[in-house]
Amino acid sequence: MIELKQVNKYYGSHQVLFDVDLTIQLQERVVIIGPSGSGKSTMLRCMNGLESIQTGDVRYRGQSLLDKRKLRMIRREVGMVFQRFHLFPHRTALENVMEGPVWVKGMKKSEARERAAELLAKVGLADKMNNVPSRLSGGQQQRVAIARALAMEPKVMLFDEPTSALDPELVGEVLTVMKQLAAEGMSMVVVTHEMGFAREVADRVLFMDQGRLIESGMPDEVLGKPREERTKAFLSRIL
Ligand code: ADP
Ligand code: MG
Repeated sequence: MIELKQVNKYYGSHQVLFDVDLTIQLQERVVIIGPSGSGKSTMLRCMNGLESIQTGDVRYRGQSLLDKRKLRMIRREVGMVFQRFHLFPHRTALENVMEGPVWVKGMKKSEARERAAELLAKVGLADKMNNVPSRLSGGQQQRVAIARALAMEPKVMLFDEPTSALDPELVGEVLTVMKQLAAEGMSMVVVTHEMGFAREVADRVLFMDQGRLIESGMPDEVLGKPREERTKAFLSRIL
């Protein structure tokens, strides 16, 4: 589904990704962990072309993101959810979810509205559709952001620490929606430090440090019996 081949990424002269090789299979659920500044967000953003790379290649279903003509199609099919929700503050939940299908896909408003209402119901917000973001909790806002991404009918979803800006009691409702998506067979790449989620949902956990993929394996292996010292040290700090 997504392939990174020997990816090197610099910001100016500062290298932040080193020879990253990674393949995400169709319907695979991959969790990425690692210290702050290790390049997790940058890697995720490379997967949908939000960041350019200096050497190597990123492919989505065999099509290189280096081909700028493909980028629009790829961004549509690769959905992304951020730590901060980035909703339009003056639009209701429903309008936030309708926006992409109407403006990007040219869907009729009536149809987009109907679809948006279905998606908001799916994430448990049937009764909040007409609220603006400031009238929603952080967990509700993040669920709107997930519904908005789903409205584009993505084939894979990227989540960048989707619960780390939330109060602890609101984390569960967002993870529940993500687990539901996983159960439906959505391909997902999730940066998170929610170890319960990783153990329950991930087919594979990757540990990243200083711009490199250090370790990759089944959740029980990487989280339970890590091979690398750096993984052990990281896990002992966060658990
Ligand atoms: P993580 O998500 O693992 O915390 P990031 O991918 O955000 O890591 O950052 C990796 C490195 O790239 C860090 O050293 C960070 O300071 C740097 N970096 C991230 N974004 C930018 C940017 N837009 N310009 C310059 N440096 C950046
Ligand atoms: Mg990050």
